[in-house]
Amino acid sequence: MTRRRSSYRSLASLQRDLDVCRACVEAGYPLESWPVRNVHTGQHAYMYGQAPGIVEGEERRPWRGRAGRTLRGWLELDENEFYAAFYCASVTRCYPGRAASGRGDRTPTPREQELCAFWREWELAILRPRLIVPVGGLAIKRLLGLTGLASCIGNRYELDGATVIPLPHPSGASGWLNLPANRALTARAAASVRDELPHLGS
Ligand code: SF4
Repeated sequence: MTRRRSSYRSLASLQRDLDVCRACVEAGYPLESWPVRNVHTGQHAYMYGQAPGIVEGEERRPWRGRAGRTLRGWLELDENEFYAAFYCASVTRCYPGRAASGRGDRTPTPREQELCAFWREWELAILRPRLIVPVGGLAIKRLLGLTGLASCIGNRYELDGATVIPLPHPSGASGWLNLPANRALTARAAASVRDELPHLGS
């Protein structure tokens, strides 16, 4: 049974409840993994993706598949550096399964996104990250209310005292990255993230 407290004072207690969250299953949605989570080891940057893929769902760790490798390539970080720098979260935290069309993974419904926003709100309140990197159109929309990658990739935003630098989703499923101009915007955004990381402190 999902447990959600009226408030959380530590990430450890939040993660104990997040670890066994079944809110979407209890609401009737067919999830195919338990929540994917990231051990908090003092990261000051918050990465916010869309939803785990099948590999992440099996390992219960974020960004384990090909998209994760591409993302680390953009940021010029190896695995250890990446997980040390970013506390990784996503719009929804459980593998949603394949899309009914058979092409790619199912996009979480608005209701699932709402149910899972609870965890993001508490994580941000406790972590107070100095840098937030939303990855992909859905994450950017949920966090900043912006639509259209071309209008925001390469820009910087402020949110509750944090610098926000959006990136496109590295899976390339949308085809947006096929255009050289969009790849140039992505390179600029990734360079901005790299520039920020050394200044986040301990
Ligand atoms: S997607 Fe989020 S809200 Fe839904 S069951 Fe998983 S952790 Fe809970």
